[in-house]
Amino acid sequence: MKVYKFGGASVKDAEAVKNVGKILKEFGTNPLVVVISAMGKTTNALEQVVNAWWKKENYTEKIEPVRAYHDSIMAGLFEDHNNAIWNEIANLFVALELYLARCTEFDYDLVYDEVVSFGELFSTKIVSAYLNTSGLTNTWVEVRNFVITDSLYREARVDWDTTTSFIAKVIPGIAARGPVITQGFIGSNKDNFTTTLGREGSDYTAAIFAYALDAKELVIWKDVPGIMNADPKKFPAAIKYNKLSYQEAVEMTYYGATVLHPKTIKPLQNKNIPLNVRSFINPSAEGTWIRADFPENKDVPIIIIKENQVLISLSTKDYSFIAEENIEKIFDEVVKFGIKVNVMHNSAISFQVCIDDRGERLADFIQSLESEFLINISKGLGLLTIKYFKENLLGDLLKEKKAILEMMSGDTVQYVLEPS
Ligand code: ASP
Ligand code: MG
Repeated sequence: MKVYKFGGASVKDAEAVKNVGKILKEFGTNPLVVVISAMGKTTNALEQVVNAWWKKENYTEKIEPVRAYHDSIMAGLFEDHNNAIWNEIANLFVALELYLARCTEFDYDLVYDEVVSFGELFSTKIVSAYLNTSGLTNTWVEVRNFVITDSLYREARVDWDTTTSFIAKVIPGIAARGPVITQGFIGSNKDNFTTTLGREGSDYTAAIFAYALDAKELVIWKDVPGIMNADPKKFPAAIKYNKLSYQEAVEMTYYGATVLHPKTIKPLQNKNIPLNVRSFINPSAEGTWIRADFPENKDVPIIIIKENQVLISLSTKDYSFIAEENIEKIFDEVVKFGIKVNVMHNSAISFQVCIDDRGERLADFIQSLESEFLINISKGLGLLTIKYFKENLLGDLLKEKKAILEMMSGDTVQYVLEPS
């Protein structure tokens, strides 16, 4: 069994979808599970729909471009206007509109998950129908019957026992008859509400399937040649790895590399399943292989910049030390609000945490600590992480930026940078 994942860019127009078909034909489909994300920037567009609905603005106007986009892709794929797919997609749009028209929900995140999940449905329905018409008979599978999660909407946590047993029981039988086409990113809680696994979560879905099926390998098809040591848009000298260890890959995602969803590696590592990140534009190139037994790439610095950071400095009002008890208070709130701490530092009476700016959640987090601590907040910061640090790199990287916090541990340095 193999698992493939195709992201939004790989199905962003009719040509791209045809290319997916070509890749499947060339690389073989037996047995295979194919996880596909929403087309192009559909998830962003659907976020706009939810936001408009939430603010009681005209949301149908925001649905129209999403419909037009999918219609234009279908027009490039299905000459036959009687193909059932036209009707299926039209029905999905009706379902989306009805959902929002009737929705009286007060939980933004719940509505968000329901609405953005349509992107994955449009996409997988269209790709599956296209493959069927081009001789690749496949089965479309509703992933929400398999990926079962808790109810932490927009960042749901997978119920591994249920999910893996559902997948292992049913999917091999279906895959024996031809490729399985399914959605990434979305799941379902026990009450049958849609959940999502966090933006870019379809990598993670693919890893969940690979794990549950004891796959031989997972291939993530991307618009880049593989995994690079830095973002080539920011660092033109970035190089591609041929081989990477799970350890290095997991660290890269932890520090903010966006090439893979941060949760992707663990399930693969747990079952020793190789991961191949390769280009759908140039499919014959090997890309990057990620496995347990590859040595570290110590000669190549890993450089990662994470934007949209907030530095929160908390100090005690009564000059008590920041010791266990205060740290416990802070971390209780960190856990409660699902805050992701990227860097932390404590001194006698103050404690600093650098976290992702998550809008409302951040505001609630700060409010929960205001009665106990004096709080200072700086927003719009960057977090630069360099592993296998080389002194001579720094000048170029920092340029005129000022570091407001600097941490060094082992072979890794991190700088919280002021906005430039
Ligand atoms: N479509 C979702 C997103 O854009 C999930 C994914 O692409 O992995 O975040
Ligand atoms: Mg994507």
